[in-house]
Amino acid sequence: MAGADALNPADPSGRLRHSMVERDIVRRGISDERVIQAMRTVPRERFVPGAEVEHAYADSPVPLGHGQTVSQPYVVAWMAQLARIDSHHRVLEVGAGSGYAAAVLAELAGAVVAMESIPELAASARIRLKDLGYHNVEVVAGDGSDPIGLEGPFDAIVVSAAAPAIPLPLRELLATGGRMVVPVGARGGQRLVVVERTASGFRQRNAGAVAFVPLVGRSGWDAPGF
Ligand code: SAH
Repeated sequence: MAGADALNPADPSGRLRHSMVERDIVRRGISDERVIQAMRTVPRERFVPGAEVEHAYADSPVPLGHGQTVSQPYVVAWMAQLARIDSHHRVLEVGAGSGYAAAVLAELAGAVVAMESIPELAASARIRLKDLGYHNVEVVAGDGSDPIGLEGPFDAIVVSAAAPAIPLPLRELLATGGRMVVPVGARGGQRLVVVERTASGFRQRNAGAVAFVPLVGRSGWDAPGF
């Protein structure tokens, strides 16, 4: 229980969510108001498995089943801020998992395509996002590291799983001026890389250290184990 913040019996999750956003998002330096508002809006408790509901607003990833996790709220907010998403943008997320980050992106963008390679997770994310009224997200089952047949361009691409190197097929899907935010490095820990497509090519920079589950696929790792 968190003092005055836990006193609204009508919406205890909303209270927990607002405190989480203050404590783990705003105080840690996320400053983009639209991102902060999106984090206050998306009901994370609806994206975690029933047994994990009490951890929905903890400062950590939450187990999702199939060896995967719902990303840590701070990291979702940080990636969304780095992607600099506008309300008219078309955004691709690779690694939809529960659909939580896709919902945050859907609050910020015009349209979101969220790819997930585990068909069961894709199916449940699709239902969950529809139930919550996110009509601007399309969940696509398949290998998002090299999404054959997916039509670009995208103004922003957020990769929610760790790649061994920048996935070049994804880079090609960026619009000029668009950005991809992708964890790149070893399985145990990665750096978050921001790749921007300019009129003349690509520019990239490292934003900091992260730890994601592996991106498994044609432009990712070739096996899911650690
Ligand atoms: N963004 C998610 C958490 C993602 S965990 C959320 O908020 O819940 C990473 C996800 O990436 C896992 O669900 C995993 O199955 C998926 N994944 C791994 N490799 C992938 C690939 N090549 N294409 C699409 N999804 C992939």
